[in-house]
Amino acid sequence: MNGDPNDTPKKGDNESGIRQAPSGDYARERGEVLPEEKPTAPAAKIVKVGKIVIDRDLCIGAASCIAVAPGVFELDSENKAVVYNDKGADDETILLAAKSCPTQAILVFDEDGNQIFP
Ligand code: SF4
Repeated sequence: MNGDPNDTPKKGDNESGIRQAPSGDYARERGEVLPEEKPTAPAAKIVKVGKIVIDRDLCIGAASCIAVAPGVFELDSENKAVVYNDKGADDETILLAAKSCPTQAILVFDEDGNQIFP
């Protein structure tokens, strides 16, 4: 339908000769999975931090934990990290602080007492 008299309408052409995008039914007939039908990944499991323990033998006072979660950790007079407020940051930030520790001196437990990091 481009002015050529021999051009016959094809599936998907409308009256003006403009080809339209396939409909959802057409895509389904061809076995395609439409974006709205694709399964989504399961939601990430939410871990609740129950207890934070500092291994003082491992702590070297690098203070990355304090940089990440200053509301939770501080250095004491021996330059070792201590937890002064275990509710001073959200659980995600506390885990991030533990992961930032170069010596893995921060042990994180969930509410059931299971160690979740490291
Ligand atoms: S990041 Fe680790 S080593 Fe550094 S102060 Fe905190 S607990 Fe100690």
